[in-house]
Amino acid sequence: METPLESLRRVFGYGAFRGPQEEIINASMGGDDVVALMPTGAGKSLCFQIPAIALQQLVVVVSPLIALMKDQVDGLRLQGVRAAMINSGQNLNQNREVMSALAAGQVNLLYAAPERLMQSAFLERVSSAGVRLIAIDEAHCISQWGHDFRREYSRLGELRSRLPDVPMLALTATATPETMDDIEKQLHLRNPRRFISSFDRPNINYAIVPKQKAADQIVEFVRSREDDSGIVYAMTRREVEKITADLKRAGISAEGYHGGMAASVRSRVQEGFLREDVRVIVATIAFGMGIDKSNVRYVLHANMPKSIEGYYQETGRAGRDGLPSEAALLYSRADLMRCLSLVSDGDPSYAKVAKQKARLMAEFAESVTCRRKTLLEYFGEKHGGNCGNCDVCVDAPKSDDVTDLAVMLFRCMHDTGQKFGEAYVIKVLVGSRDSRILELGHDRLSTYGSGARLDRGQWRNLIRQLMDQGFLRSTGGDYPVLKMEKKCGDVVKELQRVQGVISDAMPSAKARRIQQAVDYDAALFEHLRALRKAIAAEENVPSYIVFGDTTLMLMAASRPTTLAGLRLLSGVGEAKLSRYGQRFLGAIQEHESRAQE
Ligand code: ADP
Ligand code: ZN
Repeated sequence: METPLESLRRVFGYGAFRGPQEEIINASMGGDDVVALMPTGAGKSLCFQIPAIALQQLVVVVSPLIALMKDQVDGLRLQGVRAAMINSGQNLNQNREVMSALAAGQVNLLYAAPERLMQSAFLERVSSAGVRLIAIDEAHCISQWGHDFRREYSRLGELRSRLPDVPMLALTATATPETMDDIEKQLHLRNPRRFISSFDRPNINYAIVPKQKAADQIVEFVRSREDDSGIVYAMTRREVEKITADLKRAGISAEGYHGGMAASVRSRVQEGFLREDVRVIVATIAFGMGIDKSNVRYVLHANMPKSIEGYYQETGRAGRDGLPSEAALLYSRADLMRCLSLVSDGDPSYAKVAKQKARLMAEFAESVTCRRKTLLEYFGEKHGGNCGNCDVCVDAPKSDDVTDLAVMLFRCMHDTGQKFGEAYVIKVLVGSRDSRILELGHDRLSTYGSGARLDRGQWRNLIRQLMDQGFLRSTGGDYPVLKMEKKCGDVVKELQRVQGVISDAMPSAKARRIQQAVDYDAALFEHLRALRKAIAAEENVPSYIVFGDTTLMLMAASRPTTLAGLRLLSGVGEAKLSRYGQRFLGAIQEHESRAQE
């Protein structure tokens, strides 16, 4: 038998367990009942996957969402794990095959919906297959105290009497202490061990921005993160459609998602997002539950959510892979009024609570206390404040001397011969991989990428100020070219200083770049990402299942040349190495030799 750590390294290619994972796994394998409260992205899945792999025995996983089950099972299979699922999304034959594999002892991880698991015949099959552990994902769904009670879950309470000797592992990302107690009671757990991880998501940057021209702000925000996957939440179906249209008009790969769309369209949009054919999803809060995509880089709320719980859950969909990610909210007091009027129609006692929740959310948005501190304390956790990664803590000082930025811009214009429009110059400054820039070799200029600490919107804004001050002019016409006036020379020679305001109409992507831990080759990363997308299409799975962003970044940073070198990177397990290793090595080599030409 392998140890849990050996399984972790061999199958998943990760070096070490995180947080309470190892203790949870040991407790479960030792036969204890466990309740674990871990935030999104903390790595709950490994807690039940590793016991199945290390023991090579059956672990049953109860999960409410078929889409999520399918992605997990597909991913596990790619990694050589004997995983299967049984649910109404599969046809009779598929389910029958799974049952016979189960009887033959060929299944180690079996995912099932709660209503299926509780069928007597099914429980018997599971029992005679020698089930060692039952894991209950989204365990808060069993509690009426939770915010997401599901009737199908309540029957899980009978598991204890039906399979008295099988330990249970209940996992959730959202539960108050009352809900935790209730989970234990409903499942009849015996002296369960409780594991509670901090709710903090240190990789998420929180920012709240006054809503002015929402449509422009949204387009600007999304456009300045052109390579990133993101979710934009809007309140109504109509707003979803409008924002989607705005983004599409701006040339952004965006699709809408809401309850009024046909199920087939919704699942097509969702798949497109998972495969990275669609960069941005604009959605009502109907979207998200069941989205396991690990590299969502931002969640942008176009409206204030109705509660801090909702806000935290929705923003939590960003950055599951632990890489720097953003949660931005466009706030206006009018949103609060709208929320209040929406909830006043319902049942009065519910309405009272709902109003209170909305007011707390608005208070949070208007406050000038560290966002992280407020959020964590709302969930009963202490935090000292000054997190250094929220708008309140970072709030970019309104710099008034912008001479260095102006010099950078003037040099860049000089280097490109003053033959281009504003948009092109800005692209060079921020280091865009635009094909025209590459063709003209402008990616080799010393000013290329030198202005990446401002986003495009901030550059546009600064250029406007420099025009007003008579440093720059535009030739006008259909293809306006940006030109320098004489006095720019004085600035470059440091004879004159320039004053200006750096706009922070929307949080810029810079906060995240500063945080970026690994220094990797961005062009190579994009190249590897394209390969990942192609493989995902061949395998018919979401992109992140092939390799996560972290793993691709590590490849782009260390540029391994051998399979052994590749295997050392976090996220490269045995099966994926033999399946995809050569192709990724080939792509790295190809990129390297092209770069040398
Ligand atoms: P949760 O279900 O708690 O939201 P997941 O199980 O989806 O979280 O894990 C989040 C991400 O973290 C996944 O990409 C997973 O592969 C990764 N991960 C989990 N545990 C580890 C670990 N010990 N080392 C490295 N990455 C891990
Ligand atoms: Zn803070």
